[in-house]
This record gives sequence, C-alpha cells and structure tokens, in this order.
Amino acid sequence: MDWYASHSRDLPWRGIRDAYGIWLSEIILQQTRVEQGRDYWHRFMQRFPRVEDLAAASEDEVLLLWQGLGYYSRARNLHTAARQIVELGGFPQTIEGLRRLKGVGDYTAAAVGSMAFGLPAAAVDGNGFRVMARYFGIDTPINSSAGKQTFTALANELLPADQPGTFNQAMMDFGALQCTPQSPHCMQCPLAETCTALREGRVETLPVKLRKTAVKTRRMGYVYLRCHGEVAIHRRPAGDIWQGLWEPVNLDDWQMEGYSPVLLRKEVKHVLTHRILLADFYLLETETRPALPADYIWVKEDALDDYGKPRLIEIMLEEVSKA
Ligand code: SF4
Repeated sequence: MDWYASHSRDLPWRGIRDAYGIWLSEIILQQTRVEQGRDYWHRFMQRFPRVEDLAAASEDEVLLLWQGLGYYSRARNLHTAARQIVELGGFPQTIEGLRRLKGVGDYTAAAVGSMAFGLPAAAVDGNGFRVMARYFGIDTPINSSAGKQTFTALANELLPADQPGTFNQAMMDFGALQCTPQSPHCMQCPLAETCTALREGRVETLPVKLRKTAVKTRRMGYVYLRCHGEVAIHRRPAGDIWQGLWEPVNLDDWQMEGYSPVLLRKEVKHVLTHRILLADFYLLETETRPALPADYIWVKEDALDDYGKPRLIEIMLEEVSKA
C-alpha cells in the first residue's frame, strides 16, 4: 500500500467512487489491455454518461461503440446489466447483488464492490496471483481452479478491511509494474527482504502455469457482394463467435458457382483466444441480386459504418477499398 501511494498508474477510473464508471472499466478490462481500454472507457462515458443512458441505447449502438474490442458478449452483457440496474433503481451494494448482474462474476463483483462501496472483498487478477505465488513461494498453478481458490482466499486474508479498494488496485499495479512476468525488479523491491521466491532463487520458476489447450484453426470465406452501390450483409447468429455483429456474405451460406469473383486476399490470419481464423476475401459485382438466405439485407455501401462488425471484417473492408 505504501508502494502504491507513490507508484500507482494514472488511470481515468482511479479515485472515482462512481459505481458506473468503475463497473464499465472492469468489464472493458476483462479481456482488454489497459492502454486500449482507456480510449473505449472515455468513449462510453462520453456517449453514455450515466447507466440510464446506456440502458436506453439500442444493442446496435452499444455494439458499434464496442467495435474493435472483441469478445462482444461483454458488450451485450453490459447492456443487459445496465437495464437490470435501472430496473433495480441503482447499483446493488452487496457482493451477492452485484453478482446477479449479467456478465459480473466473482472477480468483477469484488472489484466494483470494494472500489465503489468499500465492501471487504479481494479482487485479485493474474497480476496479484503472480505476486502472491512469488512472495509466499506457492507453486499451485495460478490458472487452475485450485490456484484461483488458494490465491483468492489468501488475498482475502491479506485484505485490510478499511481500504479494500486501494488494496485491490495496489496488488494489480504492483504485479503490472514491479513484480512483472519477465524480469521483475527485485533489486528495487520493497518486499525483497521477505520474498520467498527471491530468497530461494525461484523467481524465474514462479508462478506455475498450466499449459493452455491447443488452439484450433478455422477456415472462413467472405464475398463482398456489390450490386448497384449496395452490399449484402447479415447479422451473425447466436451460438457462434461474434454473435449480433454484421458481416458480408459468408461462404458457408452461399456458393459462388457460376460467378467470377476477384480474390482480394487469401488466408488472412486472425487470432482469437481459442481459435486461429484463416479467411479468404472475395469481391463480386453483379447486375442483379443473387438469391441469398432470408436473413441477408442489402444496404448502401456508405452506410456500412453504421453496422457493428468484427475486426476481421474491417480488415476485409480495407481490402475492398483498395481494390
Ligand atoms: S522480490 Fe522480486 S519476486 Fe519478490 S515480490 Fe519483489 S519483485 Fe516480486
């Protein structure tokens, strides 16, 4: 906590007690780096300054503003939770209440609860787990369920009841800046004298992590189907990646036989957490609209910006604009 007092990162949601701003930052940071998340946080706070404004927006508006951040279920959950909060008449002020909001798990409930309402709950992420694994010399894998339980329980023991929010943020920053994954700054560390990993020469081998499961490759194909200044798009269905976002004609839905499309780019690689996508992009101009599945619509090309799209499709549109 002393270290944090002089080393904390300057983040726009720090020091605020507004539950909405804190919750928004936590949802954004669930799978996004701080540097990128900062811009999006400002964007959302500007466009939807209060939770009521977010609740009143359409899902399309929210997805469009979220565009580029990935993991779009977060945006949909954010929107649903905003409506839950408005219905409740405000943010729940207990961990159990926060936990009932869509998209809020134990960690996020503890983070929001401790920072906004001073609830005594440890919210420690991978950064904090690493610090504890090294400092106490614990070799339970930090990404296993046993590890999560062990380190969360330990953090709850360490948590000072009067400043839980500051403690949580201090742990996060200490891991991010001081006890970093590679080359931690042990020589200038305020915990060096009592750190187990440093004393036992285990800094390099802690924390222990379980190896991730193999990432699968998925092939995809898209055709930018243009007909008299309009382009065919559809909304991605539930039960797959990018639910609710828009894309041009997906070659799983339509065959190009009999047409002569231009190949824009082949095997564009796009990496998601559990999958590597390899996508082919085509461009096809037609005089008449081919028959497409019923969920496709035709929109003016210059209106495409109004539709939330995955990053891969943005890359495709850049290729189309160069063609
Ligand atoms: S001494 Fe090194 S390993 Fe131990 S807490 Fe400090 S930075 Fe981390």
